[in-house]
Amino acid sequence: PDVPITQFLIDAANDYPNREALVFLGKSMTYRQLMNDVYRFARALRRLGVGQGERVGIMLPNSPQAVIANFASLFVGAIVVQINPLYMRKELLHQLRDSGAETIVCLDQVWPRVQEVKPETDLKRIIVTRLSDYLLFPKNWLYSFKTRFEGQHASIRYDSQTYSFLSLIRNAPSDPMEPTCQSTEDVALLQYTGGTTGLAKGAMLTHRNLVANCCQAEAWLYKTRRDQHYSFVGALPFFHVYGLTAVMNLAMRMAARIILVPKFDLDLVLRLIAKYKPSFFPGAPTMYVGLINHPKISRYDLSSIEACLSGSAPLPLEVQEQFEKISGGVLVEGYGMTETSPVTHSNLLWDRKKSGTIGIPWPDTDARIVDMNTGEILPPGKQGELQVKGPQVMKGYWRRPQETEKVLKDGWLSTGDIARMDEDGYFYIMDRKKDVIIAGGFNIYPREVEDILYEHEAVQEAAVIGIKDDYRGETVKAYVVLKKGKYVTAGELDRFCRGRLAKYKVPRVYEFCNELPKSSVGKVLRRVLSEEEKKKQL
Ligand code: ATP
Ligand code: MG
Repeated sequence: PDVPITQFLIDAANDYPNREALVFLGKSMTYRQLMNDVYRFARALRRLGVGQGERVGIMLPNSPQAVIANFASLFVGAIVVQINPLYMRKELLHQLRDSGAETIVCLDQVWPRVQEVKPETDLKRIIVTRLSDYLLFPKNWLYSFKTRFEGQHASIRYDSQTYSFLSLIRNAPSDPMEPTCQSTEDVALLQYTGGTTGLAKGAMLTHRNLVANCCQAEAWLYKTRRDQHYSFVGALPFFHVYGLTAVMNLAMRMAARIILVPKFDLDLVLRLIAKYKPSFFPGAPTMYVGLINHPKISRYDLSSIEACLSGSAPLPLEVQEQFEKISGGVLVEGYGMTETSPVTHSNLLWDRKKSGTIGIPWPDTDARIVDMNTGEILPPGKQGELQVKGPQVMKGYWRRPQETEKVLKDGWLSTGDIARMDEDGYFYIMDRKKDVIIAGGFNIYPREVEDILYEHEAVQEAAVIGIKDDYRGETVKAYVVLKKGKYVTAGELDRFCRGRLAKYKVPRVYEFCNELPKSSVGKVLRRVLSEEEKKKQL
């Protein structure tokens, strides 16, 4: 439908006002209550002078406030800029300056960080909330998890530019208001890319982009009926477009309930699933890895889980199979990127034919493989760069016309990922163009090596990078995290890999570590490993 994304919430609140929309650490909120608070906050924003096209930063973990701030900003025609609450000075400053946000809604704990960078940004309004603002009686069985998250409260100085979220909401009327949106081609979200390979760029996603990706998900993914009340595990962060679309917006579209997870704590997630019995659990591979390795997993009842979508990084087959066995649900892999709102491909949930593939393109999405040098379109079976086209593809990068030109031509987006398509139209991601290791003239995809390491019974996680080698140009180094209570030597891993990989792909160097550097959605940051390696060599 050609509507602004706010329409999903309006429809849900009209059709199912008494349904639970959100559950937050034991407290729930109906669609009517959510809608009313969105109207209140939207009126407050308007009164503060937040205008159309202005950027509003939201720096919150998953919480009622995150949902309210997002929709209220869209109601007044502002552009939402989602900011990871874990971001420190440098990343925060980059996103605030690049976007030119004049308003930010943030958690009390990050307020000192925001306050510190404020003079170097365009910020005029800081709206502060505490996680407990929506927990009037917080002393319940989940309180211990919450307090662990909260840590120290900052004492906030409220001045003429600093406001309390709760008092803004309390002092505004909840009368309905029309959303300000001239066209569905207006930018709704300025979503910064993961910053996995370099500086994060702002992808301009329109109302149409966001609506399209939800409707595609609805058509492709879950067999749902609007007259049924479904629940989602809201573990993917909404400050990333994957969680924003695949949980928040999609739940609004289905008038479903979101079990909000402010921080991915394994015990918390398990308890929430056992208590609220959600059907859908979109996630990232690391979440499923964490759960299947949890020592007490068998004590929890996960049988309510019907369907899970994994994206943002490759899903090892072992992990998929084990999670399905434990939960009894179906787990399929999908693929996407910030620039595509984000999903472009996935497997079919109820009719899975193959594994190790990201599946087939979603409805209305075209995909092709092109030669990396010549741009020529390649036939099935050949490797090249993946390009996609569809209603979910961004308008462009914010204030970066040259970067936009590099990746967007005639509606086709170059993904920067190397892939191939098989005869049946299923796509396989080999790796990122930037991460390919070239050793002695041979191309090595780190992922292929990582997949082999994952097959070893002592390996919990593995990351592979290229390191400098005087003779071969580059050579393979593997970082390995062992499973609890398991042990293996580099020599044993070497023998294991030699039996399974071509000689030139076998890692020459191993480093055992306790954890791998990861982004907020749990993506392994090979870039950080490479940088550390370079520093060591200096
Ligand atoms: P940046 O572009 O700033 O370097 P990023 O590409 O990690 O960061 P995102 O837009 O969050 O930022 O991630 C998109 C990328 O994630 C894809 O281009 C792809 O490399 C990877 N990805 C997503 N899903 C999968 C998958 N199922 N298998 C393999 N890789 C995936
Ligand atoms: Mg990218």
